[in-house]
Amino acid sequence: MTGVFSLLPEGRHGLLVPPSGGREDLSHYLAAGGYAPLPVPDPLLDRIARAGLRGRGGAGFPAAVKLRAVRDAPGRAVVVANGEEGEPGSVKDRWLLRHRPHVVLDGLRLAAAMTGTERGYVYVSDAAAEQAVLLALAERPPELRIDVVRAEHAYVAGEETAVIRRIDGGPALPRAKPPRPFESGVGGAPTLVANVETLARVAVMHTRPDVAAVVAGTHLVTLSGSGTGGTVLVEAPAGMHLKVLADLGGHGRAEGVLLGGLFGGLYGAGWADLPLDHDRLNAAGGALGCGALHFLHPEGCPVAAATEAAAYLAAQSARQCGVCVSGTGALAGTLATVAHGAAGDDTADQLRRWSRQLPGRGACGLLDAAARIVATLLAHFPDRVDAHRGAACPACADAAPDDGRRFAVAVP
Ligand code: SF4
Repeated sequence: MTGVFSLLPEGRHGLLVPPSGGREDLSHYLAAGGYAPLPVPDPLLDRIARAGLRGRGGAGFPAAVKLRAVRDAPGRAVVVANGEEGEPGSVKDRWLLRHRPHVVLDGLRLAAAMTGTERGYVYVSDAAAEQAVLLALAERPPELRIDVVRAEHAYVAGEETAVIRRIDGGPALPRAKPPRPFESGVGGAPTLVANVETLARVAVMHTRPDVAAVVAGTHLVTLSGSGTGGTVLVEAPAGMHLKVLADLGGHGRAEGVLLGGLFGGLYGAGWADLPLDHDRLNAAGGALGCGALHFLHPEGCPVAAATEAAAYLAAQSARQCGVCVSGTGALAGTLATVAHGAAGDDTADQLRRWSRQLPGRGACGLLDAAARIVATLLAHFPDRVDAHRGAACPACADAAPDDGRRFAVAVP
């Protein structure tokens, strides 16, 4: 199945997924209450804090904390709508920008008002998203200066310090922190880099204060899987079990799931009862990340999926941190020996040691993602890993190289 759906109760249909497809134009957005003035004093920031809205780029950081940090930092701030979707298994940001550019631009305007800034950017790599944003800006000239900045797509190009470097004219590569963007971002100014779904939710919380808590708890989830079907983008309420989502996408027989794009690791038995919830997934040893779920087909092999994910991450390393270059390379190369039936007696222990030693040592989260994939493969599929010792696995023989094609999805 391929398509875009909302699983919210009737009457809330259209929080972010509208009843009909196509690009939403300005008249529709205004008719729904969009671009309403922000009252003084502004009640929106407190509403965002009370509702507990968390960023949707991957880290799940509280949105109100980030807004307040930029508002309170000395100097004239900058706000950035980050639409660069690094995870190959996610489509939500590109879909939002292509179909609902006004709700993102409205969120950017509101973020600018809350942080007291007059300068904004929209940061994208997708050409269709860029066109939709430019059209929307022409339909309604913004209250602040907004420039659209294009980057080449890459796994790390949407990391917030990479965004800042690219806007400043450099490469879209992460840099070490501190300073954090709220301390020194674009041109040295305090900078809010906010994911486009986060900004869209800010805008809806402004126009629909009555459902602010629902807006904060709802997720745009990209469903994909090996073996079957196309790509489904679904607007799902907080806490929904992953089995419901898997069934919707045609993946109900899955033996596991890769969480959060490539960021949240693999999960095996018990995956069906996992809830769509940052804290509960973290407590279960996973991570929701950007909300992309890739289901593992029962006739496939989790070792093949992990091997391709690690190889892709190693290929996407920005090669700035020595530990990342050697670490992702070692993880990917050693997983490949497992996949090809060439692992030794101590290979699994070596992988386990690396997966504990490497997290937190790179300038961005790419190395952590690779380590988590290895750690969760060993934790959730020990028998499947063991079954590869001395025996080549047919599913792994078909494993693709390092281009991430297993996980890549098209915008529905
Ligand atoms: S951890 Fe890896 S991907 Fe991230 S900045 Fe360092 S070298 Fe680049």
